[in-house]
Amino acid sequence: MPTLPPPAWLPQLDALSRGGVLQQTPLAAYTSFHIGGPADYLAIINRPEKLLAALNLLHRAEAPFLLLGGGTNILISDAGVSGLVILNQCKTISWPEHSQQNEQTTILVEVDAGAPLAGFARESVNRGLAGLSWAVSIPGSVGGAIIGNAGAHGGDIASALHSVRWWRSGRVETLPARELSLGYRSSRLKSQKTGEEAPIILSAVFRLRPDVDKQAAARAAAAIRHRRRTQPAGKSAGSIFKNPPGDYAGRLIEAAGLKGRCAGAACISEKHANFIINRGGATAADVMTLINLARNEVWKRFGILLEPEILFIGDWRQGPALVDPRR
Ligand SMILES: Cc1cc2nc3c(=O)[nH]c(=O)nc-3n(C[C@H](O)[C@H](O)[C@H](O)COP(=O)(O)OP(=O)(O)OC[C@H]3O[C@@H](n4cnc5c(N)ncnc54)[C@H](O)[C@@H]3O)c2cc1C
Repeated sequence: MPTLPPPAWLPQLDALSRGGVLQQTPLAAYTSFHIGGPADYLAIINRPEKLLAALNLLHRAEAPFLLLGGGTNILISDAGVSGLVILNQCKTISWPEHSQQNEQTTILVEVDAGAPLAGFARESVNRGLAGLSWAVSIPGSVGGAIIGNAGAHGGDIASALHSVRWWRSGRVETLPARELSLGYRSSRLKSQKTGEEAPIILSAVFRLRPDVDKQAAARAAAAIRHRRRTQPAGKSAGSIFKNPPGDYAGRLIEAAGLKGRCAGAACISEKHANFIINRGGATAADVMTLINLARNEVWKRFGILLEPEILFIGDWRQGPALVDPRR
């Protein structure tokens, strides 16, 4: 195959990326599953002004790209991603002074979308703020959490988000949270594929409160304890499926007798059946095989269709594809 000339935007993006743009880099290292083939180009960007410059550069060049945060809610194909992947590592948090100790006081905190949600939540608790105790152990970035309306322990992004600043087709706009249609592990952005028209969240403003009843730290500790007790350690993407209405995906997969089932080096967790663990060297194909097995068995036994919570990224033409068990 003839080698393609480097894209025209490469030298400018090189200057904006930490360590320069990487080529043919396996993406596995940038995901919590530790699975995924290479990206043609990978740019790691850690300053908001550089991210904005990169987005505008790519918009002018009409170059499609995929932006990732922590890579904790995705399965990247073994073939990888053709084209450009941007890793958003912009992490600034603007903590305002707050002195009023009134439950009704609203404290608005602005955070870059690339900041780790758990770190942001922990710091908010340490600063005597309430509203994010539920998030102290959710991996991934604030941007990714908004896309999927991440939640746990009775809280979710929708309960604390005030507004977002996003970039879309060369323009920056501020939107109130209610315009994102945040629902159970969903938003109007999650269904959209990346590309020129997909908005990129640059930063978000969260609405927190003074921790008047001094319960935020205790709630955070309880959330961490509960997670350790109920969820497996190891390389995973968290819950693979959304819980169907009135039930739990993990309960259904366990009832189908699938706990501990493996394909290659990927196994359905013995501790929590909605988790698939990469025991070392698992491929995306191994994980997809287990996903199809779980969907198929649960459909056959209970007539319930499990919908993936994770997103499938990259080139899946070499398969295996996600199979609809109803067919
Ligand atoms: C062990 C473990 C436990 C977990 N527990 C929970 C839990 O309790 N609750 C829960 O809700 N989730 C949980 N998750 C899933 C995951 O942590 C969340 O979904 C997380 O919010 C994803 O963020 P991310 O930055 O990793 O997103 P990524 O996986 O990087 O990306 C997910 C999607 O968001 C898009 N995206 C990312 N950043 C932006 C941006 N700035 N602008 C536009 N699009 C963007 C990406 O293009 C992609 O489509 C868990 C995961 C793991 C590994």
